[in-house]
This record gives sequence, C-alpha cells and structure tokens, in this order.
Amino acid sequence: MTALSILPGPPNAPELPPATLGVLGGGQLGRMFVHAAQALGYETVVLDPDPDSPAGRVAHAQICADYRDPVALRQLAERAQAITTEFENVPAESLAELARMRPVAPAAQAVAIAQDRIREKAHFARCAAASGIAPAPYAVIEHEADLDAVRGDLLPGILKTARLGYDGKGQAQITARAELAAAWQRFKRAPCVLEQRLPLAAECSVIVARGRDGQAVSLPVQRNLHRGGILAVTEVYAGNVSASITKQANDATLAIAHELDYVGVLCVEFFVLADGRLIVNEMAPRPHNSGHYTVDACDLSQFDLQVRTLAGLPLTQPRQHSAAVMLNLMGELWFDAPSSLNPTPRTPPWQQVLQLPGAHLHLYGKRQARPGRKMGHLTFTAPDAQQALAQARAAAQLLGIAPF
Ligand code: ATP
Ligand code: MG
Repeated sequence: MTALSILPGPPNAPELPPATLGVLGGGQLGRMFVHAAQALGYETVVLDPDPDSPAGRVAHAQICADYRDPVALRQLAERAQAITTEFENVPAESLAELARMRPVAPAAQAVAIAQDRIREKAHFARCAAASGIAPAPYAVIEHEADLDAVRGDLLPGILKTARLGYDGKGQAQITARAELAAAWQRFKRAPCVLEQRLPLAAECSVIVARGRDGQAVSLPVQRNLHRGGILAVTEVYAGNVSASITKQANDATLAIAHELDYVGVLCVEFFVLADGRLIVNEMAPRPHNSGHYTVDACDLSQFDLQVRTLAGLPLTQPRQHSAAVMLNLMGELWFDAPSSLNPTPRTPPWQQVLQLPGAHLHLYGKRQARPGRKMGHLTFTAPDAQQALAQARAAAQLLGIAPF
C-alpha cells in the first residue's frame, strides 16, 4: 500500500460501514467493542501480541505484535480507517503514531494522562475548581526526600504506583510512616502517589461518551462493590445512589471529559464518603467493567457509544430500559475449594443460573481460569430493582459468590 492510501480523510467525515475499525488490545473490552462494531456492519481488526486473545478470536482480522512495533502499527493503519484502544496501558506514543495516519479516539494525550496517576490527579485537581469534586488528599512520591515530606494526615494511606496498576495491583496499604520506605522499595522506587485511606460508604462510576464535535451523552450512575480491589458487583436502577450524588458525579465526569477535549468513551470512578462527600478516584479512557450492564439494560451500550464516537456517528442520549445488577465472574468460580491447596477444576452451574429470569451470561472465551482473572460477567435485567437484585442474589448463591 502507498503512504497516500492511509492519509486521514476530511477531519469530520464519518467512517461509515463497511469501513474497518481497529482496536489496540484483545481483551474482553476489545471483544465487546468488536461485537458492537460488527452489529453495525463494520469490519474489525485487533492488534494484540497474543494470537489467541478474546477479541482477536472474534474479529475479522488480527495482527499479533507488540503495541510498539512500528510495522504492526502501520499495518493496522493500512487496514483500519479509524482506531481505538481497549486498555489504558497501551503506549501513548503508539496512539500518537497511529494518529498521524488515521483518526484515533481517545487521543494519545488523554490516554497519557489517564495512565499516569500523578498527571491524572493533577487533572482532577484542576477540574475540581469548576466541579467542586476533588481527589483524595495525596502526595507524589518520586524522590527519597518525598517520603520524609509526607504529611501525617495522609496516614493511614495507600501507596499506588503511578503507572500500570489495575485491579488493585501496584498498591500497598501503609498504616504507619515506618512502612513507607520499604513499600516504596518493593515498587522499585517507581513514581507513586500516597493517598489518604478514606472511609468509603459506597463507590460509583459514570461513563460518558463525547463525540468529535464536543457533544456528550452520559450513562446512568453505576453503584459498584469492590472486593480485594476488584470490581465484584454493579447495581444500576433508580435510587441506587442519591439524586445529589448522581448530579455531582455526572457533572464532574462531563467537566473532566470537556477539560481533556476528550473524544471517545470515558469512565470516572468515585468514592462516596461516610459523611456524604463525593471524591473522584480515577478514570479509564475506554469502556469500563462497571458499564457492562449497558449491553443488556440500555438501548445504547458503552460499546455502541465507543463505535459511534470513533466513527464520528451521531450520539443520542442512552436510555436504560431495565433495572440491572451485574456480577463479575472471576476465575475462582471455575474451581471447587479455590483457596485450598488442591483446587479441583469445575464448570460453574450455568444451566441452573440460566433458569433465573433476566439472566444474561457473557463469557469472554479465555482458555484458562485463574483466581483473580475476569472470565466473564452475568447481568440480571428486570422491571425493577427488587427483582433484579433477587435474581442476582440467587445466582450468587448458586455460583458461590459471597452475598452482597
Ligand atoms: P481498577 O481495576 O479500577 O483500575 P486500580 O487497581 O486502578 O483499580 P483503584 O481504583 O485506585 O485501583 O483502587 C481499587 C479499589 O481500592 C477502589 O475501588 C477502592 O475500593 C479501594 N481504594 C482505592 N483507593 C482508596 C482510598 N484512598 N481509600 C479507600 N479505599 C480505596
Ligand atoms: Mg479503580
């Protein structure tokens, strides 16, 4: 192919089906993006180093290479008319390189901020001037001297590596100042933030989609339960959080997206404190685990919105038509006695689960179950919260998920 063939088209012309959409990353988020794109008649191509990735296996084409491989990036740009990412740890430079050839959403600069907690918190602090929603009190730890300078009120706290943390990885609980140096040493003295540990009454998240023209739509506020730093349950129905929290979280998320001049789907996670205050935790420049329920409970899913923002298609305000409760299906469920020395592999009791009304089972096609690995999710939809919760709790019991 000649270089001319991969020059971007006119800046605001949409990429219409059957154009090809590309995605960096082959995990479950990429897989659900591919499903949504294909429903609209797009062709899809996935770049992931794993030849057997969940998204690669359902896409029309996959390129197996490192995310930094310049030849692979060029191949991706030759095949795809527009390109997105499914995880924030893809090198921002790769997105910048792709953007020289094709429309890319979200932009490298926004992803670079989201993948670095230090820059992310600075962005939140800037936005707080307008939204009033600040991050947890924190200190940046980059040099030895920063350890001594830590204010006493940040302890007990959580030391988090600035980069590459997810699902609670790259975090250490710090109870006393004396533990700080050793914990930082364990993180190989990589740049970190130390955050005050806050008394959480609840956690929630908001997903917005913002188009090339700056128009934005948002999904309902999700109420999230985390276990061991990993999302376990998401509940979305009228009254899941107060009207005041809904408005504050929604406004803050829109402000964060606007300030980044963001194009694409963005999720912002919040803490609700015991005293009712709202704190912004972190953001993901992509669809989010807490938004999986939208596939079954909304007229536009977060993945539909990702396709539309990427391709420059119109955005309409999504409508949730069913109350929803989502359970994450972790690798533990594929074993009897998962925490014993001899866990025995098993198949979770899907037949019983699927007898429950409103069950939507999503399995990501991962070949191997491991404790802590997200293997799939199960969403219950119902006319009201009570029914969705009752079925989700019955499923949790059948599966061996701790009550919630
Ligand atoms: P993700 O998988 O969402 O990217 P992550 O590893 O980036 O997770 P965080 O979102 O920072 O981590 O933290 C994971 C969970 O740990 C939070 O959802 C919350 O339950 C708890 N947590 C994090 N920071 C704090 C804090 N400052 N105070 C109290 N609890 C916290
Ligand atoms: Mg998080």
